[in-house]
Amino acid sequence: MSKHQTRIAILGAGPSGLAQLRAFQTLRDKGQEIPEVVCFEKQEDWGGMWRYSWETCTDNNGEPIHGSMYRFLWINAPKEALEFGDYTFDEHFKEPIPSYVPRAVLKDYITSRVEKNNIRQYIRFNHAVRWVEYHEDRDIFTVCVMDHNTDQLITEEFDYVVCATGHFSTPNLPEVEGLSEFPGRILHSHEFRDAREFKDQDILIIGSSYSAEDIGTQCFKYGAKSITFSYRSSPIGHDWPKGFDERPLVTKVVGTTAHFKDGTTKEFDTIMFCTGFKFNFSFLHDNVRLKAKSSIYPADLYKGIFLIDNPKMMYVGMQDQYYTFNMFDTQAWYARDVIMGKIKLPSPNEMTEDSKKWMEKLAKCSTDEEYIDYQASYIQDILQATDYPDFNVYEQGLILKSWQGDKQEDIMGFRNKSYSSTITGTLASCLPKPWIEIMDDSYRGFMKQEFVPATEDALEDKSA
Ligand code: FAD
Ligand code: NAP
Ligand code: MG
Repeated sequence: MSKHQTRIAILGAGPSGLAQLRAFQTLRDKGQEIPEVVCFEKQEDWGGMWRYSWETCTDNNGEPIHGSMYRFLWINAPKEALEFGDYTFDEHFKEPIPSYVPRAVLKDYITSRVEKNNIRQYIRFNHAVRWVEYHEDRDIFTVCVMDHNTDQLITEEFDYVVCATGHFSTPNLPEVEGLSEFPGRILHSHEFRDAREFKDQDILIIGSSYSAEDIGTQCFKYGAKSITFSYRSSPIGHDWPKGFDERPLVTKVVGTTAHFKDGTTKEFDTIMFCTGFKFNFSFLHDNVRLKAKSSIYPADLYKGIFLIDNPKMMYVGMQDQYYTFNMFDTQAWYARDVIMGKIKLPSPNEMTEDSKKWMEKLAKCSTDEEYIDYQASYIQDILQATDYPDFNVYEQGLILKSWQGDKQEDIMGFRNKSYSSTITGTLASCLPKPWIEIMDDSYRGFMKQEFVPATEDALEDKSA
């Protein structure tokens, strides 16, 4: 009996799933025979987190909303730290553009690479993965998917599964005493969409990481009266302009008044949880599910990709991130080479030892600089094993470190800086006026560098 053609299921068509498809497509274009690749995406189009939608609860198909993106979002680190090794900004934009770009411009960069390479054909949109299970007796995975186009539940068999479903969609929502009596709006950053909604308000933001920092500064930019951050471990610690305040953890809420651990109180119109996200793999059987907590190096994965107990089950993009797109690419290339038999996986014991070594190394890190170096060395470790073009990981690390300094220096002005590409050397152009004065986040306004006041019209993606 002839063996069936090898089949690979890729779950999700965000940057990580698209990286996996791109990895296979480059082999195909070199004339190599590739396995059958099927990508299931629950949304009606690709781009993952970068696909903005106003919806916050469920979509047209009744599926939970994946997106946590909001209007007026600009990338929060220089684009030179996320450049694809195989698709440079010069190739895409043709001329230098600023280092910090709004969402629609970044989305265009990500999706153009796959659009140009005819990758859409591998993706089944409006297909929500419901259940993935491994069957040891036949060494096969069954993938059960809701096809919303035909309103049918289908089940297919695969030899490998790559889970690339992202991990910034399911809110981590701590309890706070008295919240149910709070008369104002309560929301998690997952539901935040438009800063203008909070104009003239006093806002309490719980959390002190990237979402807190970005949503807080953005609400202020669009007219909030005051922003108060409440931290659990440590304050964000910037030299905040007037109107910002940092307090220790909120202990209870009485009416409109929040009480903090240091005994102080303050009144608020809105309480926003920027308390991060949880892994949510409710569609995965125990024998394929990553059970680790979110981390820069999640436990139980070899090389941050292969489930050690069942390495034909792979994860791309599950790390906490300093590096993003080129890290996902590097992982995707490595996963591809393992599937193609070009890289051999070691024994389960060796995989466990290797993963332990990385986790021990992680436990010794405590500063941003150390975490950046750590993630760089992780990427370099897998990059050198594949033919993914070298993008100078450590040089990008220097950009990330410098970016941390820029934020310390001026949290409202760090996006006015320009960096050089580590691949082409091209120096980014300058914004025509300071970021704080640019209210328009549209693709058109940015590419012409002629900004209009924020209007509904400004929401358009290039494709819209
Ligand atoms: P995602 O982009 O989340 O894509 C996962 C895909 O899987 C989605 O399309 C989803 O619909 C699909 N999916 C999920 N479950 C299922 C299912 N059951 N069946 C079928 N399909 C499914 N990164 C940066 O580099 N720079 C930034 O400035 C930046 N800003 C960010 C701002 C916010 C508010 C957030 C939340 C994240 C930001 N990120 C940023 C990180 C961002 O998550 C990554 O850039 C990137 O989108 C991760 O790609 P991914 O493919 O792993 O996941
Ligand atoms: P995060 O980095 O995981 O941070 C979670 C925050 O919530 C931490 O400050 C944490 O405090 C706090 N927290 C958790 N549980 C808490 C509790 N019980 N009580 C009080 N505080 C609690 O999540 P995130 O900030 O949402 O960022 C997620 C991702 O989105 C990142 O990749 C980020 O880069 C991205 N993002 C990007 C942009 C942008 O590009 N413009 C904007 C927003 C988000 P501890 O420190 O005590 O753990
Ligand atoms: Mg190499």
